[in-house]
Amino acid sequence: MKIFVVNAGSSSLKYQLIDMDNEQVLAKGLCERIGVSGGISHKAADGRSYSAETPMPTHSEAFAAVVYALTKSDAAVIGSFDEISAIGHRIVQGGSIFPESCLIDPDVLDKIEQLGALAPLHNPAHVLAIRACIKTFGEKIPQVAVFDTSFHQTMPPKAYMYPLPYEYYEKYGVRKYGAHGTSHRFVSDRVAAIEGKPKKDIKIITCHLGNGCSITAIKDGVCVDTSMGFTPLDGFMMGTRTGTMDPSALTYIAEKENLSPADINRICNKESGMLGISGVSNDNRDVTAAAKAGNRRAQLAVDMQRYEILKFIGSYIAAMNGVDSIVFTGGIGENDPELRKEVCGNLGFIGVAVDDEKNALRGREVKISTDDSRVNVYVIPTNEELVIARDTLEIISKK
Ligand code: AMP
Repeated sequence: MKIFVVNAGSSSLKYQLIDMDNEQVLAKGLCERIGVSGGISHKAADGRSYSAETPMPTHSEAFAAVVYALTKSDAAVIGSFDEISAIGHRIVQGGSIFPESCLIDPDVLDKIEQLGALAPLHNPAHVLAIRACIKTFGEKIPQVAVFDTSFHQTMPPKAYMYPLPYEYYEKYGVRKYGAHGTSHRFVSDRVAAIEGKPKKDIKIITCHLGNGCSITAIKDGVCVDTSMGFTPLDGFMMGTRTGTMDPSALTYIAEKENLSPADINRICNKESGMLGISGVSNDNRDVTAAAKAGNRRAQLAVDMQRYEILKFIGSYIAAMNGVDSIVFTGGIGENDPELRKEVCGNLGFIGVAVDDEKNALRGREVKISTDDSRVNVYVIPTNEELVIARDTLEIISKK
């Protein structure tokens, strides 16, 4: 059975075709510049590839290009789209409405659209993509929504409420929703599988560190707290995002520089974080290389981010009254041994000990803690697409 996984943005569309008989990716690709010009780059699992510049005024033309790539191009992997059993969509914001993945029907689509108020950059694009799928593939093929926020819906109110006047929660749903839930779910499930224990018996802290970063505390098998909040700006310093900081600093700067709320949003989301501090780049590789070459602002950016990661882990150890396993994932978490060593080096007080040789391994699942470490520490490559495909399969199998 083949499942088509879609991760749509307003001008881009990432996809994977997964054979669920063996959970292998058959092909993956990316459409870019939708609405502007249009282009597709597509790769089959056996190494064949196909790319083309082709006009994509809307997501419908992008899906038409994907169908061509999958069925007719030099890198085709299926004879026709009829071979695909269902489509799974990554949806960024499910609010409090969607505690789990679900089949998309007109009511669900309306609700995803309404939740656009909480994720204006993402949900409207998902809606466009779902409608384009209906137009391209017809109503017969089932479509499933898998929400980044669902895994965090188990947080208790004391973790998800902001200490603002209560009316803003009631009127506008202002609270913490979290993000990267699919990734946190995948890697915490892996911990339980690796350790051969029920997840409810393991206190886990999962660190998803990429261009966007979040840390989640998992106790009794469910998320009890997470660092991202009302939007993915919350938490700690990222590639271009501030993470949590004193809001008064922002109102002060807005008054001084005569900035609008939209300006503040742009500065905090796109111009801050590692980029804002280092002045070099938002990319961890560039910033760490500049720091090693003696750039003091780059070194400050590296130091600030690692310090904040450590503080979040420390606060979640306190919140859960302990921790059994810590996971690093995401582009930085999976590939930056120095960050892991520095963060874990400061957790010696709870008996964390990392093996330098194992910590140096890259790109695969590995336990990096020593045999006598009191806490297990892992690097686990995340696989959000596989979670989306598995949920999609499970939901259509129940139909
Ligand atoms: P993601 O958003 O998960 O794709 O992660 C992107 C981040 O991972 C970027 O900041 C990259 O610099 C970082 N990254 C990827 N590969 C490496 C590497 N080999 N060493 C350090 N950072 C890396």
